[in-house]
Amino acid sequence: MLYRITDDCILCGTCLDECPYNAIEENEDIFVINQDECTKCGDCIEICPTEAIIEE
Ligand code: SF4
Ligand code: SF4
Repeated sequence: MLYRITDDCILCGTCLDECPYNAIEENEDIFVINQDECTKCGDCIEICPTEAIIEE
């Protein structure tokens, strides 16, 4: 299982502050979850306003 950010992301940045493990990174026009750092705690899913973070 992985957590992934989809195209529904509006680049609001809320998840950057929310992730306790700093696993979310902002690239040029996309936010990505660093799978090596993500502990799959699920906190980011709760706060994303567009439900852009999914489990798969
Ligand atoms: S909280 Fe959701 S919409 Fe905002 S930057 Fe993160 S993934 Fe994108
Ligand atoms: S699931 Fe938890 S550790 Fe992984 S990116 Fe989201 S908030 Fe960070």
